Amino acid sequence: MADLFKNFIGGKWLRAKSDATFENRNPANRDDLIGVFPASTAEDVDAAVQAAKSAFATWRLVPAPKRGEILYRVGELLRNHKEEIARGMTREMGKILKETRGDVQEGIDTAFYVAGEGRRLFGETTPAELPDKFAMSVRMPVGVCALITPWNFPVAIPTWKMFPALLCGNTVVLKPAEDTPASAARLVEILAEAGMPPGVVNLVHGRGEEAGAALVRHPDVQLVSFTGSAAVGREIASVGGQLLKRVSLELGGKNAQIVMEDADLELAVEGALWGAFGTTGQRCTATSRLIVHRDVAQKMTDALMARSRQLKIGDGLDESTDMGPLINQAARDKVLNYISIGKQEGARLLIGGGIHETGACAKGYFFQPTIFDRVISKMRIAQEEIFGPVLSVIEIGSFDEAISVLNDSRYGLSSSIYTRDVSRACRAMRDIQAGITYINGPTIGAEVHLPFGGVKDTGNGHREAGTTVYDIFSEWKSVYIDYSGKLQKAQIDNN
Ligand code: NAD
Repeated sequence: MADLFKNFIGGKWLRAKSDATFENRNPANRDDLIGVFPASTAEDVDAAVQAAKSAFATWRLVPAPKRGEILYRVGELLRNHKEEIARGMTREMGKILKETRGDVQEGIDTAFYVAGEGRRLFGETTPAELPDKFAMSVRMPVGVCALITPWNFPVAIPTWKMFPALLCGNTVVLKPAEDTPASAARLVEILAEAGMPPGVVNLVHGRGEEAGAALVRHPDVQLVSFTGSAAVGREIASVGGQLLKRVSLELGGKNAQIVMEDADLELAVEGALWGAFGTTGQRCTATSRLIVHRDVAQKMTDALMARSRQLKIGDGLDESTDMGPLINQAARDKVLNYISIGKQEGARLLIGGGIHETGACAKGYFFQPTIFDRVISKMRIAQEEIFGPVLSVIEIGSFDEAISVLNDSRYGLSSSIYTRDVSRACRAMRDIQAGITYINGPTIGAEVHLPFGGVKDTGNGHREAGTTVYDIFSEWKSVYIDYSGKLQKAQIDNN
């Protein structure tokens, strides 16, 4: 019998009102059923939003340091259960144990970092322009927040959104991706165990087009925080625009690593390998373009091919595995399609390009690490997000050309340059159009206390993590206290 999972609404675990369900299977082995989950509809979403709305009335009044203390306990519980959660996550979505442990660690780091913010969450005090008057600004919660998340960071991404949202005094309804509902359920169990009052955190499983869309449209949802594809982000932004909701979007990427001729090539190869094939290329910050100086291109691609051949593909629960499966059949079809597009466009397939289904991999969605060279920037494989283990090598002849190729993208999330020249490094920092730039490091590896997000089509100007996330989840209020005992008119009485 498969495990039957439920929604979490108002502190209770409930089936979908329609009783409809969907299955979730292990992408490394389709025979392994993770569980059966409620296929929620607008009715379930409404119940969750109502629970969040009524909990907001009291949660917003809990002092922020107290809210922070509960989040601190969440961090401790995540730390105590790190291994179990990581194993469940690998089974549910395929990335290797080292990475799922990192995913949970990101949640732990976020919990402790945000918990401390309970005693800061600073506003400003400033002199008023009139006598006997006091002026300050304070952060206010927004209300009920809808959190809609993707499957590639099943714990980390929900925590990036949820913990700061809760710290600010909001209540939340989480709609996790259909491919990782069990990891989300485990996270919510931990929040409840840590002492979150009923209704403060609610969980609704279901399809994006149904449960997700109903959540976005719900009149009592004040804010939608979404991480996922640009296509869905656009849809949410347009609905949110019509309904005048606060919408924050973290979308796709087409991240590039530049390797100049003066770079430490061994380091650059290590970086490209990790950036391109870590998480099977399914990170929003994955390296999908390698922009390399022609003087070192051959050496770089030879070394990369040699290292890629050594990668062990398989079940992420095996500690010796380097690369797990893609998330599902649709993802594998999409990657395969881009392999034919690349060939048709005239790129040269150096290695990989096919599904990997030998031996124990026969029942999963495995794919070979793939490298194309002779790629030019206008090709679709150099422009569109593939979200798989596919690296496109673009040769350039100068630093300026490298920057202009890197910036020739509608996305602008992460970027990297390998060079030993400090002036090139500083110019790259200044001229690259991206939310994140690494010098002599791969495009992946963000830390939770720095802003995270991107420019151009990667988002709509917000930054999660760091201290910037509080600008998403709170509203500023300016407060004036006039203790003069008379009517004082700003801009008039003092001129
Ligand atoms: P997706 O857009 O298909 O789904 C994301 C979430 O949106 C899921 O929970 C889904 O159920 C829901 N959804 C789908 N349609 C919806 C609708 N019409 N209304 C409301 N919700 C809806 O994305 P995915 O395949 O899960 O994730 C991969 C994408 O996420 C990639 O493009 C990747 O770059 C991006 N991503 C971005 C970041 C970032 O921080 N910038 C981080 C991770 C992933």
